[in-house]
Amino acid sequence: MLARTPDAPPGVKGISLFLTSKFELKDDGSLGPRNDFRPGSIEHKLGIHGSPTCVMLYEGAKAELVGQQGQGLAHMFVMMNAARLQVGVEGVGIAERAFQQALAYAQDRRQGRAVWSDEQPAPIWGHPDVRRMLTLSKAKIEAARGICLTTGVLADLARLADTEEERAAAKARQELLTPIAKAWSTDVGVEVASLGVQVHGGMGFIEETGAAQHYRDARIAPIYEGTNGIQAADLVGRKVRSNGGETMRALCAEMALTAQVLSEGAGSRARRPSAGAGRGGSGTGHRLASLGRQSAGARGLGPVPQAGRRRDRRLDPGPPGAGG
Ligand SMILES: Cc1cc2nc3c(=O)[nH]c(=O)nc-3n(C[C@H](O)[C@H](O)[C@H](O)COP(=O)(O)OP(=O)(O)OC[C@H]3O[C@@H](n4cnc5c(N)ncnc54)[C@H](O)[C@@H]3O)c2cc1C
Repeated sequence: MLARTPDAPPGVKGISLFLTSKFELKDDGSLGPRNDFRPGSIEHKLGIHGSPTCVMLYEGAKAELVGQQGQGLAHMFVMMNAARLQVGVEGVGIAERAFQQALAYAQDRRQGRAVWSDEQPAPIWGHPDVRRMLTLSKAKIEAARGICLTTGVLADLARLADTEEERAAAKARQELLTPIAKAWSTDVGVEVASLGVQVHGGMGFIEETGAAQHYRDARIAPIYEGTNGIQAADLVGRKVRSNGGETMRALCAEMALTAQVLSEGAGSRARRPSAGAGRGGSGTGHRLASLGRQSAGARGLGPVPQAGRRRDRRLDPGPPGAGG
């Protein structure tokens, strides 16, 4: 619990971290009287009803100071930085669940005539707009998952990499990516859950399909553990400027290198520069940059519905690179 001590200075410097126990402890370690705090009211929330929360009232409760007085916020950030990544993963998880459900519904629900064939009624996933929503969802989930996994591996390397230099590089990159992992992934969670409702049409608005629950549950993630506006301020105000901007420059150089390697096509992959050989990129970072690429495309949406004899070439341009 965060609270102010009696003569604490205003602002964050006056905040300290405390631990309260349900019962006071006697000197011999046995349980004493009940500590004076209690729930004031249950919170009635937009979503996450499976996680009941309440307003707590601390009226004369006794608490122990954790860490140093006035350093409450700094101490809390040890937990907060891990929690921010975990909330980002929450965004990915809800998005994935919403996507899978929308995909299954779109394969099952039949409505209208397919533009690819004469099939009528056709599964709605054959309609270009429904397919747009599903492919957009899938692409965003893969990207968000890649960012979260990369940030998680960086957190491990920041503790466990072989050299101090690698640990420092991993920590700097982790700190840069954490607000992005939190804010972007949770925004993706809301967007994909909303698209999931849309794919269901009217049934998306009816509780029994469960699509609406994903939308409601996803909505908290851009708010807690620091709103996404606060993540943006942290990214631009602190993280991008740290190390004189070097961490950000190295990341941009790696992204440019990755884009170059990808644009050269599969044939050039064998000639991909070795780890750390990029312009300004650290070895640690380059190894991590490949993580997201490996997960991309692991699960497919399945084949485009069979083109029938009324195939419309404006809608079905053929394989990528075929032109036209
Ligand atoms: C269901 C739920 C569970 C929660 N669980 C916990 C918990 O377990 N532990 C915990 O400590 N907290 C918890 N919270 C609190 C949560 O972390 C805060 O609600 C959240 O951080 C936003 O703070 P606030 O509500 O004070 O909003 P405000 O700070 O009042 O923000 C309101 C708006 O103003 C913007 N804003 C505020 N300051 C700035 C600024 N300086 N620059 C730009 N924009 C700004 C915000 O981005 C937001 O859009 C929980 C909240 C909810 C709803």
